[in-house]
Order: sequence, then C-alpha cells, then structure tokens
Amino acid sequence: MASSSKPLRVSDVRERNEKLVLRIVHSAGLSGISQSEVVQATGLKAPTIFRIFSALEEAGYIQALERDSNPQEESARQERKGRRPVSYAVRQEAFYCVGIEFWVERISIGIFDFRGASIYSHTSSLSRTEDADRVSDLIASLVNQAIGDTQVPRDRILGVGIGAPGQVNVGKRLVASYPRIPGMKNYPIAEILESKLGLPVLLHNNCSVIAQSEFRYGGPEVEASMFMLLLRSGVNGAFVDSGRMFLSPRGTTVEMGHISIDYDGPLCVCGARGCLEAFITSMDSENLRRGNWLFEGLDPFSPSADPILTAAAAYISSAIQTASRLFRPSSFLIVAYSDEIAAEIARRTTEKLSRETSSFDETKPLILGRAYNQGLALRGAADLVIDAFLS
Ligand SMILES: [Zn+2]
Repeated sequence: MASSSKPLRVSDVRERNEKLVLRIVHSAGLSGISQSEVVQATGLKAPTIFRIFSALEEAGYIQALERDSNPQEESARQERKGRRPVSYAVRQEAFYCVGIEFWVERISIGIFDFRGASIYSHTSSLSRTEDADRVSDLIASLVNQAIGDTQVPRDRILGVGIGAPGQVNVGKRLVASYPRIPGMKNYPIAEILESKLGLPVLLHNNCSVIAQSEFRYGGPEVEASMFMLLLRSGVNGAFVDSGRMFLSPRGTTVEMGHISIDYDGPLCVCGARGCLEAFITSMDSENLRRGNWLFEGLDPFSPSADPILTAAAAYISSAIQTASRLFRPSSFLIVAYSDEIAAEIARRTTEKLSRETSSFDETKPLILGRAYNQGLALRGAADLVIDAFLS
C-alpha cells in the first residue's frame, strides 16, 4: 500500500498539529502570540491548543513572554480592556541553526538562535587554488570552530544551511556546476558535509537564500514576486515567486547571470557565448583579478563611472527584459558592492527600460538596488534548516 493511502494515526495528527502551532508561534517572532489567537488562526479547539502549548512549553520550545515592561501603560490598558492574554514566543536557546554562504573568494558562517538572532559570525578568505574537497574540509572546520567558540550544545543544532554558488540542484543536493572552484561539478556537498559533521545539511543556491532573506527581512518594498541579481565575482540571480524560492521541475535554480544577451558575444566561463556575466565581468576584469567585487571602489558619481554604469545598465536591461517576458515578476533587486552603485545601476536600468518599451511592457517592474548584506545572507541559509524543521 502506498504510504499516502495509509490511514492517519492519532499520533501523526498530534505531531502535525504541534508542528503547525510551533510554526505559528515561531513566525509571530518577538511580539509573541496568545493561545486564543492560535485557536483563531488554526480552527483547532481551545483544549487542543492548551494541551499543545503545555507540551511545547514543557519541552522547552516556547515560553510565556513578560507582560508590558512599562507598568503605567499596562495598568492603563488593563483599565480599558481587562487583562491581556499571555503571549508566547519560541525560546531562543531551544535550538540553533548554522548558516553558510560561500563563493570563490570567501566562506562566511553564522550561528542563529531559534528566534533568528545572530550569536556568531565569521568570514574566511579562500585562495583560488582550493578545490571542491578542500572547500568542504574548510567549511567543516569552520562549523566545528563556531560550535566550539559559542559552546552551543551540538544536540541543540538543527542543522547547517548552505547557500552555494553556481547552479545548485536542490532536489539532488548537489552543486551541479560552479566552474570557478575546481571539482565543483555534480558535487554532493550536502552529503559530504553531513558525514563530516554528523549534522543535517540543507543546500540551496546562495542567490536564492539571499533573495528569500531580502523578501522576509529586507523591508516592505521588497515584493513577493522578485528576481534578484547579484553582482559580485560574477553575476548570478534568483527568483522568489510568491515568497518561495523558485526551482525548475528538475530541482535546479535559475541562472540569471547566464541569460544570453548576444548569441555572438564573448565566451563565458560557463562555456556559452554572450551571457550577461561574460559582458559584465569583462568590464571590470582588473577588480576581479585582484579578488575584489565587481565595481568595487568605483565612485558612481564620478565622470569616469558614467560610461561604465550606463553599459552595465544596458546589459542588465536586456536580461531583465528576457526574465520579464518569461516570469512577469513585479520587481527586480540588484545587489552589488555598495548601496550607491546598486542604486545607480537600478536607476539607469529603469530609465533605459522606460525609454525602450515594447507592447509587452505596459506594467513595468520596480527595479531596486542595494548593497550585499552578509547578515541577511547567512540568516537566509540558516532559515533553510528552520523551514525544513517546521514544515
Ligand atoms: Zn555563461
């Protein structure tokens, strides 16, 4: 009999409801949520919610929050409406998650508590001679060092989330292709790290975790349907669709940097011709050779920057037009070395697209630009673990 047709057991339902309640309390964040609000949100009966709250509290997963710290406000409020029900939040020390982001130049690692607060962050440089196995060894030693430094109990760590560069096959848990690190082709990094660390490892593309984190925590202007472009040592991108990281039916992420904008263009590191990445990286090869970011050190308001940013915006406009035709996202987010450079490229891209519209462009996407935020990237990687745990 297929597992999906098995009758549900009472214990399955209980576990499912407990996960559901824990997920709701977790998403309520620091402001917390009361039992009656969870009754309303779930439609479950009040005694069931009471039982689940008691079990979760006893297990140390959730805790009652202190009432208002301002006693005057609290007593005025009590006079108006009576006592407020107790709110609960997840206990920060109940669990921890490790987030990793890496690419050819760096490995960054963070540890986050169950409320999402960062308790550790560290970055290590990579040299261009490291191959895939060496990078795995380094990641494992950084994780062990972080656990040792923070003294977080290993059995409280839910897992390690990894935002990996290049094309990632999330379904098969592989880095499918990242030509900048030798040996990183169909590379089973999640399985390798699990055996080294003895912890569950969740893998996704680094742009996808950055994009999802920008959507969750980056501010209200980041919309639920968004393409992100990351200009760093190359160009990559990700699509967050209705708040979820988009995957192809084969389990792979999108390759925004390798959209061809000219069939006869320069040869790209991926082997194809005319990719967006090939055009953009050829504009700033000196920075990249030194291990810097694209356009690092460029004053976007200097006269010499004008032709560079105009050309970059032209290339990006072309890729954005293609992505718009295919997916119709409501916004694009350009992430670059600094807020100023990202915003200036976004502004010029918007201008170019508004000058050269086609009949398909009646609704124009919003194009935003901002600096790379390492804290958001690491939290996005750690969220891979939380999301899997609470799903
Ligand atoms: Zn390419």
